[in-house]
Parts: sequence; structure tokens; C-alpha cells
Amino acid sequence: MRVAVVRELGEPLVVEERTLPVPSHGQVLVRLEASGLCHTDIHAAHGDWPVKPHPPFVPGHEGVGLITAVGSGVAADRIGRRVAVPWLHTACGHCEHCVSGWETLCLAQQNTGYSVDGCFGEYVLADADYVVAVPDGIDPRDAAPLTCAGVTTYKAIKVSGARTSDLVAVFGIGGLGHLAVQYARIAGARVVAVDVQEDKLELARELGAEFTVNATAEDPAAAIQALGGADAAIALAVAPKAFRDAYGGLRRGGTLVFVALPADNHVEIPIFETVLNGITIVGSIVGTRTDLREVFELHAAGRTTVIREQRPLSEVNDAIADVEAGRVPARVVFTP
Ligand SMILES: [Zn+2]
Ligand SMILES: [Zn+2]
Repeated sequence: MRVAVVRELGEPLVVEERTLPVPSHGQVLVRLEASGLCHTDIHAAHGDWPVKPHPPFVPGHEGVGLITAVGSGVAADRIGRRVAVPWLHTACGHCEHCVSGWETLCLAQQNTGYSVDGCFGEYVLADADYVVAVPDGIDPRDAAPLTCAGVTTYKAIKVSGARTSDLVAVFGIGGLGHLAVQYARIAGARVVAVDVQEDKLELARELGAEFTVNATAEDPAAAIQALGGADAAIALAVAPKAFRDAYGGLRRGGTLVFVALPADNHVEIPIFETVLNGITIVGSIVGTRTDLREVFELHAAGRTTVIREQRPLSEVNDAIADVEAGRVPARVVFTP
């Protein structure tokens, strides 16, 4: 099978041939139909974060494909089913986080495309218990971005507590942001979208954002305060300044959700205003299998639109360069 491999952190990926792996106990082998490119894959390949992956490894955690083989302990009738292979490759299943619906916080988790080989290839090994069924009728190329960008923003809107008539500010309209706008609308909120590119703001308006702010033309915090302030702000842009602006746009009692993980890991938040204004700051990391099922249900019901651009896996390095330069409308999806 062909896979795209990070051999050295900070170096371009190399497409190479590997022997087809055999699923061991509890595993499935998935023949990939589509695989999304997430910012996390780029950070992984660069080794940007405090916890670094160990090369050589295959990135990719938005994989969708058909099960072609199962290991022992996995029902043979799962062969032929379409599944999503998400970031949460596996978790322990019995710690306090796992049993309370927070498996994404499990300390024993493994992560697809980071601690174990991921979906930038023709096949991937996955844990039979942690893949999520993709309902019939969903295009695999739509299902791929939903597997991380979708579930991550869906969960972020959930933890923001956004409700009908709330104003939700979405900072960064890309692969994640274009979906965050839609989930905020589904929650009944009004949306203000913030970005530095006019075409992204146009996309946000098409997807239901009532207000838009171009952060190169005006101060986002002031612009959002002029609308009455945001009840919730979702920080999806990989720049600490966007987090600070998102904080500044909150109304009293508002909630700021940290989602993006900039390589520059620091932001300054004032203590006094946070206390007096009763601000909540919460981190949100991907979503559970249940969240992903709900994301697929909404998409199957026609409630969401996935903006994507299809590329062959052989163009992986060009695609990464284009995402970094902001030349991609929303999500790149590789087809092997
Ligand atoms: Zn991701
Ligand atoms: Zn656990």
C-alpha cells in the first residue's frame, strides 16, 4: 500500500510503499476512500507542539473507508461497512473519563496519525471499538472533514452552551470555522464570523453568519462589542491574537472556547476583567464517538454543508503549503 510518511519533523512528507498490515485482536483494516487534511497534521509534521510525535509516522485522522479485514474478536459481518477513523484511535474504556462520557480526556488514549499511523494512505489499521459508522448516503469525501473538523466544532458549540438568540463569534473561517458557523446556527444562535480574508467571510455569510468582521480592517473586539458582545466565542484561528480578540469581544457572563492550537502556545488574559465580568474560558478537544454519530446524523439530514477540495495523496506537500498560505477554501480531502 502507498502511504505518505513523515520521516523527519519539519521535512516534506515522502510517499512510499509499505506491506499491507494485518489487523490484530480487536482491530479492523480500512481501505480508505477519503482522508482530510487537518491543521493538526501540519503541526504534527513540523513537530510544533510540546508533545511531539515520533517519526517515521503516517499523519491523518479524518479517514473514511470500507472495512476489508478484521482481527480476532471482531465480528466478520463488519467487513464491507463504511467507517470513520477519528483522532481518538483508542482509549482505556474504564477510567473515570471514559465511563463519564469524556473518553477524549483518557490519559491512556492513542491518537490516529500522531501516536499511531494514520490515514494518509490507501489503508489504515483502526480499533474496531473506536471507529464510527458512516450512515448510507453520506459522501465519504464529506464524511472525512466531519470526522475531525466537524466533530471538533460541534463539540465546541456544545461546551460553549450557545442557545437560541445568543450571539456566537466564530474566529477563523476555514476547515473548522465553516462548520462551526453551521452548528451555531443549528443551536439557534446568531453568528458573527471573524477572519482576515474576504472570501472566507463571504463563505461564512453563505453558510448563515449574520455579521462578519474582517480583522485586517477593524478591531474585532470593538466590532463585536458594538453588536452587544458575544455570549460565546470559538477560537479556531491558529494565532494567539485571535484568542485575545475573541476574549475582548465577549459580553459579561460570556464563554470563550479554546480550540485551535497555535505553535505559539501563549496568550495573555487579564485576571481583573475575567473575574468582574464572570468570564468562562474552556478548552475543547475533538469530540466523542457519540458526538461524531450526531454530526453524521445532522449531515445525513441535510443540515450541514461541507466545503472541500479534492486532491490526490501524491500532492500532500503542495496541499500543506496551500493550507498554510490560506489558499484553500476550507478543507483539503485526499483520495488515495
Ligand atoms: Zn483534526
Ligand atoms: Zn480511559
